[in-house]
Amino acid sequence: MENLGFETRAIHAGQEPDPRTGAVIVPIYQTSTYAQDGVGGTRDGDYEYSRTANPTRTALEEQLASLEGARHGLAFASGMAASDAVLRTVLRPGDHLVLGNDAYGGTFRLIDKVLTTWGVTYDVADLSTVDSVRAAVRPATKVIWCETPSNPLLGIADIPALAGVAHEAGARLVVDNTFATPYLQTPLALGADVVVHSTTKYLGGHSDVVGGAVLTNEDELREQLFFLRNSAGAVPGAFDAWLTLRGIKTLAVRMERHCDNAEEIARALLAHPKVSKVYYPGLPEHPGHEVAAKQMRRFGGMISFRHADGEAAALAVSARTSLFVLAESLGGIESLIEHPGRMTHASVSGSLLQVPDDLLRLSVGIEDPRDLIADLHEALA
Ligand SMILES: *Cc1c(COP(=O)(O)O)cnc(C)c1O
Repeated sequence: MENLGFETRAIHAGQEPDPRTGAVIVPIYQTSTYAQDGVGGTRDGDYEYSRTANPTRTALEEQLASLEGARHGLAFASGMAASDAVLRTVLRPGDHLVLGNDAYGGTFRLIDKVLTTWGVTYDVADLSTVDSVRAAVRPATKVIWCETPSNPLLGIADIPALAGVAHEAGARLVVDNTFATPYLQTPLALGADVVVHSTTKYLGGHSDVVGGAVLTNEDELREQLFFLRNSAGAVPGAFDAWLTLRGIKTLAVRMERHCDNAEEIARALLAHPKVSKVYYPGLPEHPGHEVAAKQMRRFGGMISFRHADGEAAALAVSARTSLFVLAESLGGIESLIEHPGRMTHASVSGSLLQVPDDLLRLSVGIEDPRDLIADLHEALA
């Protein structure tokens, strides 16, 4: 399976026809428990209780592991549940973490409000500058937590370089690969130790399911994560696992179209007089463009931009689009617009991660790009 192409693995990895019925599509095993042949005599695959394991979830985990080039995949009830499991597995009281100065607000909240009460400390660094990261590392550092492209400013971190800094310090590099997806970037192959996903976004791809995943090549870490997940219980239900599995089958074709549309929209915004700055790593003037071109296949479907007339004007634009729906989240087939400062990133307000108040973020969908550009032009007029 490993030497097959990405699109082939998305459709076949972990998804053999059902051995009993021949069902071509993995069934939704909507069951909490499994009959045993005598005490301790579990049947095929050691299934005994669905918090521990469920065949639909197993299919998703094998599919995800194959796409990220990982030995192990674990699915979780949400992206935050996946991040929480990683943090509580690799960190202990007294440990230190380095976090990017641009990160998903929920990740910052989990670290700043939950992990710190647990005796973990952290420092914030500019992940696009290796020296800034090196300067933030301390003897107690156990994790460098990296988003690239980052949310919402689309900053680019050099994954191999950060893996080098982490490993010199005896720490792990964790990459939140939600924005790029394994179609555009595979961090484990670039030296990262752990990948986390909000599968709610591009992987599910249709804004109809919440989920998360962790991928790693480390056997012992996989056992620890599995133990914590089974102990704490943040598992996705069978139907949610099935929806995610289904969404991922079309990831490659969707991502190509997300990238095509985003490239066109980024250029249209760049040319607009009411737009003072466009953040898109596919633009040659983006400071991370060269690094992105080295480690990514293409540049993704997320764009942020600043309104030349300030916050009130930015808020007005977000209220005036009609195809771009005003909503949090991202990565679905439909285009979304949001104001990070007041929506997804309200929890970083007043911190080192604060975002500009005239910033708007677009999740560019796979609609006709001419309609999307017309919608933005009308809203900006
Ligand atoms: C949405 C998101 C998360 C959190 O995932 P949930 O599925 O909402 O829990 C984490 N990281 C990034 C980059 C995200 O966009």
